[in-house]
Amino acid sequence: SCPIVALVGRPNVGKSTLFNRITKSRNALVDPTPGVTRDRQYERVVWNNRAMILVDTGGIDDNPEDVLVPHIRDQALAAIEEADIVLFLMDGREGLTPADYEVVDILRRAKKPVYHVINKIDGPEKELELLCPFYELGVETLWSLSADHTFGFNTLMDALSETI
Ligand code: GDP
Ligand code: MG
Repeated sequence: SCPIVALVGRPNVGKSTLFNRITKSRNALVDPTPGVTRDRQYERVVWNNRAMILVDTGGIDDNPEDVLVPHIRDQALAAIEEADIVLFLMDGREGLTPADYEVVDILRRAKKPVYHVINKIDGPEKELELLCPFYELGVETLWSLSADHTFGFNTLMDALSETI
């Protein structure tokens, strides 16, 4: 059967950009405004002869003023629930945020295999510096990525396709 891979993280970290890059589509709406993806979005992907179902989500926010937040969050929680593997995206330019820690808590409880992906590492120049704050998470492997510029993309996808 086809493993389900969910893209999870707070809004604006680049989940939809990565979804579109992996699926070679423009189906997921990429927008600088957080909270544009409201429902889950599915597409089948084949990489190195391995098939998976990729799911984009609206993100897990901690902004209580936005009335849509509970719905978007429920969609993200449902995606985690049904996922076999989670790609947890964070923003290398912004560093670790309280909303990232909320996702960490949710994922810890979900007990799913997680790839910790640090996006917006747009090249090797500042990679080590930008990754530094994320070692606080205490995870063994951080995956550097630029969903926009393809840096780190093949490495991540090859590893992912080997584990499914
Ligand atoms: P989502 O809310 O997590 O789905 O994030 P989006 O995919 O909509 O992206 C949010 C913003 O971040 C957009 O303006 C993207 O163009 C930008 N973005 C996404 N990936 C990258 C990246 O690798 N590098 C840079 N510099 N910007 C990115
Ligand atoms: Mg999105």
